[in-house]
Amino acid sequence: LDKENVVLEVDGLVKTFGGLVATDDASFEVERGTITGLIGPNGAGKSTLFNLISGFYEEDEGSVRVNGVDVTDDTPHEIADHGLIRTFQTPRKLEGMTVREAMLVGPQTQTGESFVSLFTDGSTVHEEERANLEDAQRILEEFEIGHLATQAATDLSGGQMKLVELARAMLAEPEVLLLDEPVAGVNPTLANKLRDQIARLNEQGVTFLIIEHDMEFIMNLADPIVVLDRGSVLVEGTPDAVRADNRVIDAYLGG
Ligand code: ADP
Ligand code: MG
Repeated sequence: LDKENVVLEVDGLVKTFGGLVATDDASFEVERGTITGLIGPNGAGKSTLFNLISGFYEEDEGSVRVNGVDVTDDTPHEIADHGLIRTFQTPRKLEGMTVREAMLVGPQTQTGESFVSLFTDGSTVHEEERANLEDAQRILEEFEIGHLATQAATDLSGGQMKLVELARAMLAEPEVLLLDEPVAGVNPTLANKLRDQIARLNEQGVTFLIIEHDMEFIMNLADPIVVLDRGSVLVEGTPDAVRADNRVIDAYLGG
């Protein structure tokens, strides 16, 4: 692999919780411009890996590089500044906010930290905040959900919320976007929308690393696929190669 084309380098990541080894010397690279799939049985360590890469967990061992820069000890915000953004498996609670306001809650935080003072009335919104609101509206329209902008965020369906999460992550103008189970619990129509949006953004140059349980979805969207099992990379390759690999079948059967 040509290192110039590597946007994310995960090298020997180890993370233990008490006696439990969640990631065990996990190493792989994500090539710029790809949609890379990260799959593996329940408990394989996929979400832990995302938390390590994006700076939410501190690793016991190993390193992470974004565009060749070592970000191992960086905070989530610093990592975001290097162009790496992630979404969460479970969307956050966004009580009392419209969808457009919820868009301005920083994608790198679970605590509701915001780019905008959410509780000011329209007349006191600063110029910069107004610009952010305009960006948010533009992105919602690109996602064909502009009509949802003034709805209460809590009124959205799970699937709509996932679309908003993706739209919101785009506000940070990521170079590489990590999505944790983007279509979990999403109906087929919205899942197709999500797929189309991911493909559109990828064509615009965004690199994706996607954890997904829905095999049809990920095998049709991603290439290559990285298979994680018991905390380490078991196999990586094209969807066809991964599908046909007996080690992968065994891992899923709990071998
Ligand atoms: P996956 O996303 O592949 O289903 P996870 O990364 O969520 O797997 O979990 C891997 C293992 O690490 C599991 O056994 C899980 O229970 C454990 N684990 C994950 N996060 C924590 C945590 N914060 N504290 C303790 N154990 C955890
Ligand atoms: Mg998970």
